[in-house]
Amino acid sequence: MAEAKSLHQKLTELTSNLWWSWQAGLNESFRAINQPLWSGNAHNPIALLQEYSPEKLEQQARVLGLHSRINYAYRRWQEYMVAQDTWGATRAGILNHRPVAYFSAEFGLHESMPIYSGGLGILAGDHLKSASDLGIPLVGVGLLYGEGYFSQHLDANGWQQESYKTINPDKLPLRPALGKDGQPVVISVQTRSGSIFARVWRCDVGRIPLYLLDTNIPNNTDEDRRLTARLYGGDIRIRIRQEVMLGIGGARALSALGIQPSVIHMNEGHSAFAPLEIIRTRIQEDGLSFDAAIRETAASCCFTTHTPVDAGHDRFDAGLVEEHVGPLADQLGLSHDALMGLGRVNPQNHHEAFCMTVLAFKLSRKANAVSSLHGVVSRRMWASLWPWQSEEEIPIGHITNGVHVPTWLAPQMRVLYDRVLPVNWHTRTGEPDVWSGFEQATAGELWETHQSLKNQLIGFTRRRLETQARRNDASDEKIAEIANTLDPRALLIGFARRFAPYKRTDLILREFDILAEMVSDAQRPVQFIFAGKSHPADGNGKAILQRVWQATQQSKLKGRIVFLEDYDINLARHLVQGVDVWLNNPRRPHEASGTSGQKVLLNGALNLSVLDGWWAEAYDGTNGFAIGTGRTHVNDTVQDDRDWKSLIDTLRNEVLPMYYERDADDLPQRWIKRVKRSVRTLGWRFNSDRMVMDYVNHCYVPAAGGLSSQIPSM
Ligand SMILES: *Cc1c(COP(=O)(O)O)cnc(C)c1O
Repeated sequence: MAEAKSLHQKLTELTSNLWWSWQAGLNESFRAINQPLWSGNAHNPIALLQEYSPEKLEQQARVLGLHSRINYAYRRWQEYMVAQDTWGATRAGILNHRPVAYFSAEFGLHESMPIYSGGLGILAGDHLKSASDLGIPLVGVGLLYGEGYFSQHLDANGWQQESYKTINPDKLPLRPALGKDGQPVVISVQTRSGSIFARVWRCDVGRIPLYLLDTNIPNNTDEDRRLTARLYGGDIRIRIRQEVMLGIGGARALSALGIQPSVIHMNEGHSAFAPLEIIRTRIQEDGLSFDAAIRETAASCCFTTHTPVDAGHDRFDAGLVEEHVGPLADQLGLSHDALMGLGRVNPQNHHEAFCMTVLAFKLSRKANAVSSLHGVVSRRMWASLWPWQSEEEIPIGHITNGVHVPTWLAPQMRVLYDRVLPVNWHTRTGEPDVWSGFEQATAGELWETHQSLKNQLIGFTRRRLETQARRNDASDEKIAEIANTLDPRALLIGFARRFAPYKRTDLILREFDILAEMVSDAQRPVQFIFAGKSHPADGNGKAILQRVWQATQQSKLKGRIVFLEDYDINLARHLVQGVDVWLNNPRRPHEASGTSGQKVLLNGALNLSVLDGWWAEAYDGTNGFAIGTGRTHVNDTVQDDRDWKSLIDTLRNEVLPMYYERDADDLPQRWIKRVKRSVRTLGWRFNSDRMVMDYVNHCYVPAAGGLSSQIPSM
């Protein structure tokens, strides 16, 4: 018989796969083993284990009584990895031998792996996790950014400062991906100015392998070694070179790994060069004509567009395209003009830049937006690509985004779910019936659970504020004040997202006196936590951030409006699990979907949002609160003014009265009823299991040659 594995060995195996990150029991175990080391290392269990010998870990686990919990997790993980009875096994059989290749420029999987910037990355991470849980044959393709995305802190004037840390692959669940010959894979992409090389890492996300390209190897010039150093950190030339590595390099990496995908899914246009490389192999290796190769490749490609904001679509000039894609075009037999034409709405227009979104649309048979409203906007926005079709016939459907429930649901809330939902609810989150049991939760247990999560968030906020204050050399007096920051009994509103100007983080600050009055109201006070990063090159975003920070310094608002630095997955988790209300006030219709509000609803808080993105199809009058009526105005100033008025009115007339209306047991019964409706009516629709099932049914299976199914467009 094989010798029993030590606890250290089991945990080393477990932490080589990010599956651990969505297991509450393992998270708790790591925290228990060494809280300071755990928190100080961005919750990185590999870094934690490196500090422990097998003996020391054994002893510590015995003291803490962790053996059964860890052994249980280990056994479950082994079962999970080989399970045959998954949703995907029965519903995605056609994909079985040739996986879907999911390309994305960012992946937000865990705070210890900073290769994401915002919603797009979190979505990609949640997509992989749900694909794993559902047993969908899928591989991810992305870039390993050696310095990741930046960490944020504010200087004494509230101006954003950025810092970068070099990530160490030895401390992450990364190992070199091996090719058919058993050797680490290195691929290259030829440009007019020389070849660029990349090695390939493999990161396991449950059952899903994620392959990450990394140009930091000696084959490259010093400049190219830094090509994948930072996410969204370079100029336009770095941008196209990164996208060449992601698309062309990513497709080559799959081939070198012996993976022949049945479907290419481009998550946003960054990876739109990938189909060109597939077309090349179809011509050179399978002997197809160019026309046949492009037709067959496009039939197996799916494209998800993510933004109605024009600047969010990458465009490159003819020189950059020729330098980087010219050699591939030569092999395809494409002239420079013909190549440029693939990225132009009007191929004859020589003044038009090369747009990655246009390329992606032209090379995909299936295309979708990420919410119903975004579908309408996208069909209008790209109508000129299909000039012979009416707007309703434009072939862009929608699959609304969702979030990975085990990643975002608080462990305490999960206990409640376990009690009132069917036994295997977490493997069936995409089914409406599964959620109806939530009505059985009693008002008292729901409220108590929420209240304890809120207290946790307030404690976390105070500790963070103290760290922030000490770093900026705050006085002792200022630091002492932090202990009174935020009142657990007062309505707590959270607002955290990137400081993209259309998100209007400063909308609530428009009329200082009105805000001050609401914050200091003796009967029904309101308080706010803000967080979010501005892109380093976006001065406008930084100025908005500074205005928010200045508000937090006003004596009338002090301790009731706070800003937490360095918004990341960890901070997001605390916020979405502990606030009472999540505020979202983008300028409609610029928020394609938004997902943070979906994390909030799972945890028993209510959304207060402009009817944009997912909320436009989610809100039914009884499951949260709406800002505005869904009308838009061509003039932004008028629009902002209206939305601000509606925000204040809704707060004063609906949100605050309902929150503060208590029964004899101090329970806000009408509020709790709304929370229950929110979980029951929205939980099943806005999670990533439902989303991935939709992608399988409407995109993957048809693209792999199975039965055709229309992506819903209405
Ligand atoms: C969920 C999440 C986002 C996306 O939020 P939006 O609602 O789309 O703005 C961005 N950043 C982090 C860290 C998140 O967890």
